[in-house]
Amino acid sequence: MTAKTVSDYFGCLVFDDRVMKAKLPSKVYASLKKTIDEGASLNNEVANAVADAMKDWAVEHGATHFTHWFQPLTGITAEKHDSFITPSPDGGVIMEFSGKELIKGEPDASSFPSGGLRATFEARGYTAWDPTSFAFIKDKTLCIPTAFCSYAGDALDQKTPLLRSMQALNKQALRILRLFGNTEVKCVRTSVGPEQEYFLVDKEMFEKRKDLLFCGRTLFGSKAPKGQEMDDHYFGVIKPRVAAFMADLNEELWKLGVLAKTEHNEVAPAQHELAPIYTTTNIATDHNQITMEVMQKVASKHGLVCLLHEKPFDGVNGSGKHNNWSMATDTGVNLLTPGDTPYENAQFLLLLCAVIKAVDDYQDLLRISVATAGNDHRLGANEAPPAVVSVFLGDELTAVLDAIENDTPYNGAEKTVMRLGVHTLPKFIRDTTDRNRTSPFAFTGNKFEFRMLGSANSIATTNIMLNGAVAEALKVYADRLEAADDFETALHDMIKKTIKDHKRIIFNGNGYDDAWIKEATEGRGLLNLRTTPDAYPALLEKKNTDMLISHRIFSMAEIKARYETGLENYAKTVNIEGLTMVDMAVKEIIPAVEAYVKDLSESLAVKMAAVPTASCKYETGLIEKLSSLVDSASDAAAKLTEALEKYQTIGDVTDAACFIRDDILEKMAELRSYCDKAETLTAKKYWPFPTYSDLMFGVK
Ligand code: ADP
Ligand code: MG
Repeated sequence: MTAKTVSDYFGCLVFDDRVMKAKLPSKVYASLKKTIDEGASLNNEVANAVADAMKDWAVEHGATHFTHWFQPLTGITAEKHDSFITPSPDGGVIMEFSGKELIKGEPDASSFPSGGLRATFEARGYTAWDPTSFAFIKDKTLCIPTAFCSYAGDALDQKTPLLRSMQALNKQALRILRLFGNTEVKCVRTSVGPEQEYFLVDKEMFEKRKDLLFCGRTLFGSKAPKGQEMDDHYFGVIKPRVAAFMADLNEELWKLGVLAKTEHNEVAPAQHELAPIYTTTNIATDHNQITMEVMQKVASKHGLVCLLHEKPFDGVNGSGKHNNWSMATDTGVNLLTPGDTPYENAQFLLLLCAVIKAVDDYQDLLRISVATAGNDHRLGANEAPPAVVSVFLGDELTAVLDAIENDTPYNGAEKTVMRLGVHTLPKFIRDTTDRNRTSPFAFTGNKFEFRMLGSANSIATTNIMLNGAVAEALKVYADRLEAADDFETALHDMIKKTIKDHKRIIFNGNGYDDAWIKEATEGRGLLNLRTTPDAYPALLEKKNTDMLISHRIFSMAEIKARYETGLENYAKTVNIEGLTMVDMAVKEIIPAVEAYVKDLSESLAVKMAAVPTASCKYETGLIEKLSSLVDSASDAAAKLTEALEKYQTIGDVTDAACFIRDDILEKMAELRSYCDKAETLTAKKYWPFPTYSDLMFGVK
């Protein structure tokens, strides 16, 4: 027997186009296709036929249950399993699944976060099938990707606004394409390829640390003697256990139709990355959620734990996610690729300008889209992009924009003053863009790469904000161009004006440089929203709510709900960390140090009795230092506890989050400092849990 090849099993657990074509009557297939491609509504008869075929296929593949699979505001996915069984009169069961069950579900979802949109005593929410993302089988369960709404129709999830934002962008982008004479394109979709970073640690060690168990990150730990300074891990040889994990992970993802493509070691020890091939944004979002889930499951099979936290370890790089984003037509053209004709180039430059304007006008929304307690540790730390949003274009493209702005000759291939729509752009971009790793938002030849996302973030929020912001910029352009008498002049003037008004957001230098942060904030007036509570208030600013509401991405109630849940998640996360720290310090660290001090004291007594003239400087010095650290740690734990109690009494979510930022985080850092110092002075066998060295170098 020959081994199965990837192409034999790729997507074998997905009810994809191949299966639909094979299993559905041709009329039903055509009708479903129309729904998927053009958003046409689906009648009952078709839904029933699809449900029936889906169920038969799922049962053939060993499924016994189905679930509507959705993405509530917790950031992870949720599911409620129902079995297919229906009793038959003869005492047995038959497997049934109706169109109604496929299209709509009513999970008892009253305890998902809703930011006050649906008080827990109110009616349930419902889930609605998203036929554009294929159903799949996971753990013997047919998973149906769905949106999740309240009965009043408010979105309680990530998918609903994401789909709305894609529609908004589609609508405005089509207006622009029509202005350029394109009548063929029916639909413009955004594509995303999210690169995912993660850490792997040994499961046995993981389970010995409450901070990892409860918070997904270490709250204590002095630096290992070796970190990432030798740069020997990045793209290094993959260790056997990790390689086995990766092979298994790929296979599981491929079965689920996820286009896992590249994997390598990352910069920090024990850190790795997985990149898929890009696809339509809502599918990429579903796939990224599946990827994160499968990573954890497969790791567990290999005796490992996959850490998706943004900053599992202090002192080494954290984990992010890069959102590679572009716009493409249903005819297969990437609109962010410079074209071959002057007209195509003018269109390219206009779309490029739309993104620049969008990022400048809505820097705050992009920052908010990645704001979590976990990611706050990363943004602005030395390896990550700063909390200031800026756009990298590369020297050549920037020079083109300069030339347009100033009506000066562009010294590229043609030494002439550029008139858009007249001159061909030189072929410059794809080969020469410098790969600037420090820019938060970089143009990389035919796509933009937004790098501020945290590894645990859902990519939905970022893409909602980005699509919305670009839709708005395109709308402004389309409004003006449609009303213009002379299209070419209007186009030229508008591009010029965009460059003039928004060039402050363009920065090609080193984003990690302190001098840049000063220039960005003081010189250019860019925002530097360092923490989650710093960023969130901007969500309620009029320019932002106006944009989101006018493109029907969110209602005001939905925006407020997101404001509340965003800050609530932040505060709750840090609160759990604070409580965990106190617990570990009081119950594990302090007693361990005390045990060591006791043994030291005993040996000191023995030694002094044996050799009365001995100085015993080592023992006395150490005992003194450790005793003092224990006192300080105990005081700091008491102060932290008091502050955490005070936090519980703060009713207002904004005040609570600010209190966490201004008070709790500082007290946590103080407690940690004493404990980490004590760790460096305490003999290894006394330390109550695995250290940074154990964790980061423990997987062979
Ligand atoms: P690297 O960042 O290592 O150079 P690539 O640039 O090839 O790698 O790709 C990084 C990610 O960007 C991958 O997930 C890839 O599929 C995705 N990507 C490539 N082209 C596009 C595009 N046009 N739109 C969206 N994502 C893309
Ligand atoms: Mg990249």
